[in-house]
Amino acid sequence: MSVQETVAAARTVFTSGTTKPLAWRLGQLKAMNQMLLDHGDDFTAALAADLGKHPAEAWLTELGFLTADIAHTVKHLEGWLRPRRATVPLALQPARATTVLDPLGVVLVIAPWNYPIQLLLAPIIGALAAGNTVVGKPSEMAPACSAALARWVPEYLDGAVSIVEGGVPETTELLEERLDHIFYTGNGRVGRIVMAAAAKNLTPVTLELGGKSPVYIDETVDMVAAARRIAWGKFMNAGQTCVAPDYVLGTDAALARLAKELPEAINDLYGPDPSHSLAYGRMINDGAFARIAGLLASDLDDDAGSALVSGGHTDAATRYIEPTVLHVDAEAQLMVDEIFGPVLPLVTVGSAAEAIAYINGRDKPLSLYVFSDDAGVRKDFTEQTSSGALNFGVPVAHLSVPELPFGGVGESGMGRYHGQHSIDTFSHHKAVLDKPLSPDTLSLIYPPFGSVKKQIIKRFVAPARKFRKD
Ligand code: NAD
Repeated sequence: MSVQETVAAARTVFTSGTTKPLAWRLGQLKAMNQMLLDHGDDFTAALAADLGKHPAEAWLTELGFLTADIAHTVKHLEGWLRPRRATVPLALQPARATTVLDPLGVVLVIAPWNYPIQLLLAPIIGALAAGNTVVGKPSEMAPACSAALARWVPEYLDGAVSIVEGGVPETTELLEERLDHIFYTGNGRVGRIVMAAAAKNLTPVTLELGGKSPVYIDETVDMVAAARRIAWGKFMNAGQTCVAPDYVLGTDAALARLAKELPEAINDLYGPDPSHSLAYGRMINDGAFARIAGLLASDLDDDAGSALVSGGHTDAATRYIEPTVLHVDAEAQLMVDEIFGPVLPLVTVGSAAEAIAYINGRDKPLSLYVFSDDAGVRKDFTEQTSSGALNFGVPVAHLSVPELPFGGVGESGMGRYHGQHSIDTFSHHKAVLDKPLSPDTLSLIYPPFGSVKKQIIKRFVAPARKFRKD
């Protein structure tokens, strides 16, 4: 089927009304769950082939994540879809006001390669639950996962979800179609292409983008535990996680203590030689390997002012980059763009205030992580910074709290999803007002406006209010 035929077929299913009943939506979610259970091994093998992902990590961060999201959605969907009552102002009563959630139509989901199963199917869970049909475009950079999705999704979700495989040409064709929502996860450069294409049809977009997610750490915390948490969040999936800690800010003293503990934490996670650990992933392709190896080499150059703490070994043949920690200064190459690999720079600042100023001087992060037991420091980060998420004491894990919205702000994206937030994203919030024709209380405001009506309007219907100065 051509791209045009695929989108047209998705629209035919949507306009038939099939997707509206709650039972259909629950049926699709359960079918997706069944697919994940029946073909968990196929998806796990594909994740190992594309990214060297360990089966336990594949379950934790992809398949199990999805089954948990499905279970949460199945449990709450009926309640989420109930019309939401709104208060009617006195002047309009008697009347009944509600917000009704309408499905949007055909949703396009474009996914990246780093969590290729999760990031295609998690938005689809929300889109189906909200009563839409979906065209999914997996990333061509994770070919085994793309093939597995194209093989199994149509078998379990026939009519509800179609998969279009391919790269830029196919995505470009999809973006030329008239769609009702585009949900894109990936980098900001393509995000701009997606938004420009969407503008032609006034199609709403959700952009789940990336960028540098900072960590701030001070000496008030248990450094051994903090190092383990940071190493876990950073080196999972070989650093190719949109919410991975990108770099660490701290005072000289705090970073010296952290630098002492991180090698130990890495050793605990992956053993003395991570290249032998099945739990440690590989770079997605030669280009990604070359980019990270190049950044490392340039910052470890004698004149660059950087100092290696641990790691640094690379192997082009297996696209292996050792978990690496190094001290750099704020002008280092590693500090320009999102690293998206297993290299963790430590950057010295004089204080928490300086760290906040550093973060606020750059693009708004997707996530910000603070390790401090100082209530004042926590308060300052909460009140003085803006990021998609702010976590204390743990990186990455906010994704698995289904009631928390997941999304960026500014350069890290727009819109949000997960759980009920997905339903809100993939629905039109329709205002419904129902006022009986009798008694006709509105006759009080119909023209002609005599002096009595003028008084009524000014005093009761739309009264001018004064606020006291505090
Ligand atoms: P990618 O290269 O797989 O691209 C993502 C999608 O965009 C793919 O489906 C691809 O086919 C499509 N695409 C690429 N070029 C295109 C073009 N010119 N026109 C139309 N479509 C095009 O993935 P990526 O962008 O390298 O992913 C990594 C980035 O994604 C990082 O910045 C990361 O932080 C971010 N990310 C964000 C999230 C999030 O949830 N916010 C999650 C994962 C990754």
